[in-house]
Amino acid sequence: MDIADFRDKILKQDRRALARAITLVESARADHRAQASELLEALRGAGKQSLRIGLSGTPGVGKSTFIESFGMMLTASGLRVAVLAVDPSSARSGGSILGDKTRMEFLSRDPNAFIRPSPSQTHLGGVARRTREAVALCEAAGFDVVLIETVGVGQSETVVAEMSDLFLLLLAPAGGDELQGVKRGIMEMADIILVNKADGDLKTTAMRTCADYAGALRLLRKRPQDPQGFPKAMTVSAVEKAGLETAWEEMTTLINWRRETGHWDQRRAQQASFWFHEEVKQGLLARLQQGEAKEAIAALETRVATGDVTPSAAADSVLRILNISAR
Ligand code: GDP
Repeated sequence: MDIADFRDKILKQDRRALARAITLVESARADHRAQASELLEALRGAGKQSLRIGLSGTPGVGKSTFIESFGMMLTASGLRVAVLAVDPSSARSGGSILGDKTRMEFLSRDPNAFIRPSPSQTHLGGVARRTREAVALCEAAGFDVVLIETVGVGQSETVVAEMSDLFLLLLAPAGGDELQGVKRGIMEMADIILVNKADGDLKTTAMRTCADYAGALRLLRKRPQDPQGFPKAMTVSAVEKAGLETAWEEMTTLINWRRETGHWDQRRAQQASFWFHEEVKQGLLARLQQGEAKEAIAALETRVATGDVTPSAAADSVLRILNISAR
């Protein structure tokens, strides 16, 4: 494969080359990994900095409807939009429920949009690493906005937040004045909470839910990287396309502020460092799961359990196989 040619095609916004490049970064084959690595290195610093928007919400809250409406609004204003997904369940279910083109009927046909479902990997770490590389490829291919969708379960929000400049949490109107059991950690990650389905019979409930969340957000610690009034809660209707322009204006205000104050660059630098550590960890874990180290762990397992060898001595003998020793 001619990496230089591949690189040029991506920089020229060739969609087929972009799709092929994402397939390459998602592949587990060693030769593909090597080529992917070379390609990413060749593209480093090229292209533009997209606005990366993370979007989380439980199934049924309206993520795909929102992405379709919001994405179409952005492309209508001349922006190019890529949609990627981090779906840890895709390995188990055999198919992704996120980033499925049939869920975004019009956007998937828009020449200024690019939609890619979640890679199938056996664990979240694998999905997240590949998606992060796909984000880099979309940036190189000149997309203005990269939307990264995830389901609101488990750890997937955390990894998506670590690859986003801005994090949106999509919620449904809730009956009563109960907050919807949204974990504090997720609330703390959100820059903007969007209460969707604020239309028809649900409108009043949506407005009350929004007020509840606005109150809850005010109780969180103020973040130095944010202007007055953020994080904030707003209502939208993805179906009626209501509130989407206001939401985009708020996102722009927040992002412009962060760019001007240097928080944008700081956050990207911290994220690069996070992923560096993550790659080192994943690399070590992968080495532990193969060859001599794997055999040694299997062999030592029972000996540790029966007290034949201490846990730390056993661990040390495994680490020595990898040429890493604690002592
Ligand atoms: P996802 O699983 O989060 O991607 O949710 P979907 O986008 O598939 O939407 C789930 C259901 O909620 C569908 O029946 C949508 O038509 C409906 N829905 C999505 N957005 C809205 C909205 O703004 N208002 C109303 N009333 N229904 C919506």
